[in-house]
Amino acid sequence: MADDPAIAFEHVSKSYASGSGEAGAAVDDLSLAVHPGEVLVLVGPSGCGKSTTLRMANRLVEPTSGRILLEGEDVTGVDPVGLRRRMGYVIQNVGLFPHRTVAQNVATVPGLVGWDRKRTAARVDELLDLVGLAPDRYARRYPHELSGGERQRVGVARALATDPPVLLMDEPFGAVDPVGRRRLQTEFARIQRTLGITVMLVTHDIDEAVRMADRVAVLSPGAHIEQLASPLDVVARPATRAVADLVGRGRTARLLALGRLERADLDEVVPVAVSGAPLTVGTELGEVLAAFVGVDGPLPVHDAQGNVVGSATPATVVRALDRLTEPSEETHATAGDDAPVGTLRT
Ligand code: ADP
Repeated sequence: MADDPAIAFEHVSKSYASGSGEAGAAVDDLSLAVHPGEVLVLVGPSGCGKSTTLRMANRLVEPTSGRILLEGEDVTGVDPVGLRRRMGYVIQNVGLFPHRTVAQNVATVPGLVGWDRKRTAARVDELLDLVGLAPDRYARRYPHELSGGERQRVGVARALATDPPVLLMDEPFGAVDPVGRRRLQTEFARIQRTLGITVMLVTHDIDEAVRMADRVAVLSPGAHIEQLASPLDVVARPATRAVADLVGRGRTARLLALGRLERADLDEVVPVAVSGAPLTVGTELGEVLAAFVGVDGPLPVHDAQGNVVGSATPATVVRALDRLTEPSEETHATAGDDAPVGTLRT
């Protein structure tokens, strides 16, 4: 039904049988709903149960107890092959077939489900275009003839081949160098918005979580939810010590303390009626983030004299955050000559 979550975990647990029999559950009584069209990111330390959670959604791992629903339907009742056609799956190092070309890799699932050659070929071209790989340059190459980032793009194209409503991504950009990773994240965000697809993404990288997510679920061992909130909430108001540790350990928090919004980051002045207090030029990014907590935004921005000079949305703030965490050349390119990085100007 339309109102159903895209994916719902209901009191789901997973215990791996261990030789000694004493191990705690990898996932312990997890309840979580992923809304249609959102990017929900699971973030947490290694071993906290992120991958197990994701893999239970497409039944690569069977839950020990609890239920998982895909668009309202219990996945345990669904044939796993059919299920996986409705859920694309992208993993680190993608697992492309090495002896098959890019086009053949992308055509894997359409081939399995019996699409004819013409339809498959057209879809492959469309998908390669979507992920930024010109078909005439890339379709006939083999995986070893691609960069790590290009391979991940092929993995994304392959996962999208049959237009699944849901995409599961497990550290999808983890094997790519930082600059390439940033580019992939940005491009993937564009693709996700274009397709309106529901995404559940696993990462150990809080910066990636903040950048990619509509909502972030911060997990501790046993896939216990420490906080489930917008990226801004998580960064500005960590709910628990574990979340504070995760946010504080990365560079995000340090940069937040340093950074300020720039005038150039602000959207056009728009008439807004919001309950939050206006932001003032020169406000530090951390305070800006805090101001958004509990507000859908945008918020008006005032100069020091109280004149409205623009408005800032959570997206504006995340873009500013992005710029501040950008590898150095691009930071300098966007900062402009007359503005020190991080100063809000009118
Ligand atoms: P994460 O993705 O957060 O790193 P995982 O979901 O991979 O965590 O693992 C959660 C816990 O379950 C870890 O303690 C891990 O050792 C254990 N685990 C994962 N897969 C298996 C398996 N196939 N057999 C036994 N234990 C496993």
